[in-house]
Amino acid sequence: MIPNWKHIAILGAGESGVGAALLAQKHQMQVYLSDAGVVNDRYARELNDAVIEFQSGGHDEARILSADVVVKSPGIPNHLPLIKKIEASGVSLVSEIEFASRFTDAHVVAITGSNGKTTTTALTGHLLKQGGINVQVGGNIGKSFARLLAQEPLAEVYVLEISSFQCDHLIAFKPRIAIITNFSPDHLDRYNNRMEAYVAAKFSLLKNMDENDIFIYNTEDEWTQRMRQSLKINCRSYGFGVYPAEQSHAWIDEHQNLIINNETIMKTQDLALKGQHNARNSMASSMAAQLLQVRKESIRESLTNFDAIEHRLESLGSIRGVTFINDSKATNVNATWYALESVSKPVIWIAGGVDKGNDYTELMDLVEHKVKAIVCLGENNQKLLDEFTGHVKVITETRSMEKAVKMAFSLADKNDTVLLSPCCASFDLFDNYEDRGEQFKYWVRQL
Ligand code: ADP
Repeated sequence: MIPNWKHIAILGAGESGVGAALLAQKHQMQVYLSDAGVVNDRYARELNDAVIEFQSGGHDEARILSADVVVKSPGIPNHLPLIKKIEASGVSLVSEIEFASRFTDAHVVAITGSNGKTTTTALTGHLLKQGGINVQVGGNIGKSFARLLAQEPLAEVYVLEISSFQCDHLIAFKPRIAIITNFSPDHLDRYNNRMEAYVAAKFSLLKNMDENDIFIYNTEDEWTQRMRQSLKINCRSYGFGVYPAEQSHAWIDEHQNLIINNETIMKTQDLALKGQHNARNSMASSMAAQLLQVRKESIRESLTNFDAIEHRLESLGSIRGVTFINDSKATNVNATWYALESVSKPVIWIAGGVDKGNDYTELMDLVEHKVKAIVCLGENNQKLLDEFTGHVKVITETRSMEKAVKMAFSLADKNDTVLLSPCCASFDLFDNYEDRGEQFKYWVRQL
């Protein structure tokens, strides 16, 4: 049932906030949107075109506190005095996902976890679309959920990537299917460095789900298994894991067949997305598609023809026998582990950036067996140099992508792979991971 809110205040003018504003306007609400920072030109133009009132560079507290509902963008920290005041005032405070969900009865497939969210979201969308389902994909990637609902045409199923911040302030949100890919430490600063709090935030997706709904989980993930034991989960659960595990409904058998709910789908070597991590993402997505009645033949074909997503183990082809792979999105140890694991040829590894407290011991074995040389690419490379010197033949450093690519190419022999999988955030030398990946691709093309 569509809520009876008349006045809405929206905090934050990013993709979520602007989407919420458009959706609220579509439902004839009086909208006031404000952002503590400067609203970017594109969104300001969009708000002006839609004749939506907004304030850039500050908030009118009295207006916010007199609204029927306040929508908070996920980037706004919960500890801000304004948020505390709203909570104390009794005004409903909801996230953009929660707000949007009140305006649709369509099924939602919500995907969260530490790594693999974007890949699993895009792949699930692809499987459903190819399977003939009227689907749209968004959330933390592309368009916000609210924007998707503000626009025509509407869909039957929404596949949403949900970041951990978007799991805050969910109240009645009830996905039809929730997928949690895995857990590894990330963004722990927002959770007072408590892994339990980070994991619990993501599990809050499940709190309203009942026996008609489905939780797709990773049987090999320790934190997921811990939460499954300690939480009361009311929906049906389906596990996936590469190794046969008692509870797995999706697994890979000894002949490398991908099995979903006792049906053999295909050989893993024919999956479009390479690497063990992507086999797991493929299992999770296929399970969701199968549970939404997509035919096995369609799933198989879609898993074969899915294009890799930019900056995630993106193959750039080869130059004089040297293969180049752009995995700029790998900003933590776990993602890089899977990248190194997936490459069969000797690796020249470009790594480094802003280290969010990495423990590199997990990578040591792979590095010793697969990596010929490391090119450290960061403002401060000392930690990488200290960790890996003596474990690889060559380790060198630079602060420029151009030099990193040239150094890596000169260190590579025919049949080697140059892998950019930084294991770190990008903000020291680049605008973001996309910028880092684009610069990598640019300099590879110049070789
Ligand atoms: P997210 O949206 O959760 O950040 P992405 O799909 O963008 O995830 O992938 C981020 C990085 O993690 C990439 O380097 C990718 O190769 C790697 N990755 C993808 N899926 C997984 C997985 N299931 N487990 C570990 N790493 C993964």
